Amino acid sequence: MTTAKLRALEKALKKLRAETIAQGTARIEPNRTDESQASTVDEDAQALSEMLQVLNSQRNKGKAELLARIDRALRKMKESPEMFGLCEECEEEVAPKRLQLIPYASLCTECQGLRDPQRRLTRKKLTDFD
Ligand SMILES: [Zn+2]
Repeated sequence: MTTAKLRALEKALKKLRAETIAQGTARIEPNRTDESQASTVDEDAQALSEMLQVLNSQRNKGKAELLARIDRALRKMKESPEMFGLCEECEEEVAPKRLQLIPYASLCTECQGLRDPQRRLTRKKLTDFD
């Protein structure tokens, strides 16, 4: 990969990193545990609040994973730039288009699909960052 391409990807990674951090961490509200209020709490509202908590914690987890992957990619770029952009599984070049979309991708499309076929099927939109 050329230095210019590496620079562009580094820039993309840093931008993505800053954006991910700027989004902040989703707040996780504590569960209502006050027994005296239990009877007045709408059960639907309680169920909704529990659902939102689950969603929030999943989102936080996804964000933490994303940041870890970005940091890993930046480190790799610094330590072994000649390996950057090569699939860590088959050592073929990762398609430039894929790197454009996912600058922290460490596997080519094929190896990623082989490693995690389930995820590719179930994570199409919201959390599909890979
Ligand atoms: Zn591969």
